[in-house]
Amino acid sequence: MRNKNQIKTRIAPSPTGELHIGTARSALFNYLFAKQNGGEFIVRIEDTDKERSKKKFEKDIIEGLEWLGLKSDELFKQSERTAIYKKHIKKMLDSETAYLSKEESKAEKGKQIEVVRLKNKGKKVEFDDMIRGKIEFDTTELGDFVIARSIDEPLYHLAVVVDDHEMNITHIIRGEDHISNTPRQILIQEALGINRPKYAHIPLILASDRSKMSKRAENATSISEYRKKGYISSALVNYMALLGWNPGNDRELFSLDELIKEFDLEKIHKGGAVFDIEKLNWFNREYIKKMSNEEIFENIKENLPYEDEILEKVIPIIVERINTFGDVKKMAEEGELDYYFKKPEYEAEDLLWKTETDLNVVAEHLQIVSDSLEKISDNKFNREGIKNVIWKYAEEKGKGSVLWPMRYALSGRNKSPDPFQLAEVLGKEETISRLKSAIDKIE
Ligand code: GLU
Repeated sequence: MRNKNQIKTRIAPSPTGELHIGTARSALFNYLFAKQNGGEFIVRIEDTDKERSKKKFEKDIIEGLEWLGLKSDELFKQSERTAIYKKHIKKMLDSETAYLSKEESKAEKGKQIEVVRLKNKGKKVEFDDMIRGKIEFDTTELGDFVIARSIDEPLYHLAVVVDDHEMNITHIIRGEDHISNTPRQILIQEALGINRPKYAHIPLILASDRSKMSKRAENATSISEYRKKGYISSALVNYMALLGWNPGNDRELFSLDELIKEFDLEKIHKGGAVFDIEKLNWFNREYIKKMSNEEIFENIKENLPYEDEILEKVIPIIVERINTFGDVKKMAEEGELDYYFKKPEYEAEDLLWKTETDLNVVAEHLQIVSDSLEKISDNKFNREGIKNVIWKYAEEKGKGSVLWPMRYALSGRNKSPDPFQLAEVLGKEETISRLKSAIDKIE
């Protein structure tokens, strides 16, 4: 049975665009607050604007919330609730808290329509915001505002108030851009004689120049874009939780369950939270590091159609160099990983370190490197073991002069991991074979 005092929150996105990061963060805060109080979190698609609402955006929003793990207890669509709004509009007309008024249609010139207006006495409205404290409004200047375009066509404010009431929403946690909507909604509640929910208006997410994070901002604003880029949903959730809230200590890594325990609505800051892509990337890297090698393997495999055996060895190198799994695709496309899987192509001259001019000296170094590597047993052929046998010689002859051609012979690239790491991944046989090809190229 339903507990009358049960906490219930909602996210009420309009399907006029993809799931915005600001909406996703509001959803997260609503979800956390409901769940930590044993309450319910619902999703309500606010599709009363028929022209701008699109099915594809509705789908994107629902899928995005699911991907983030913000499971809703119920899903509603305003377009399916017209009869409910009509009942309340009638009630307001009957009680004369609203009235019909004939006006010229904005959409069709010359056409007369009958809109519904709230009878506004112009009183002072005051409400206690859980984050911002007391907020006061003089509602005189709002006038008798329109609450429905006709008895069958409620406008946003009316639909929100009716739904929050009918759905027993106890707490409205939403962006502070809705503060100015609150007095209108309170006036409608009062006209309908229904209880006022609690309000918590959270600061907006800002771009680095502190402007509102919009489509024009330097970073993506929609959740589906981050998903496409290969971000891990739990990393994004973790990062979003800290946009405007923190636990009061240095801790940064939280799973969704941990956030349910730790989150505190009343500790949300008043100031805007600046979106920082570097920080999000840091979170994503942390979450990749937490994954098992098998999980990482599964995530990169589809973008790297190479032999599993080498792929497994390259995992630590890839992990060191990516922010998201999407970056793996880019690395593969740009051929950055090719040298692990096929012999490099280059000119003999490329093997010359900056100050070096004599290729015969290079060949000599490579021969000595190769001979030293031959002596390492297979089970010691790792980064440390390889470095141990080469390092002294490299210091003696000049590190660049020895290590540059060694690295170039293995990768054929100006930039790549260090030669010890490369040799470890390539294995003894392949490493020596590539060193020999380099010597052959010189001779
Ligand atoms: N539908 C509104 C929006 O998309 C939200 C309404 C509310 O949270 O009260 O911004």
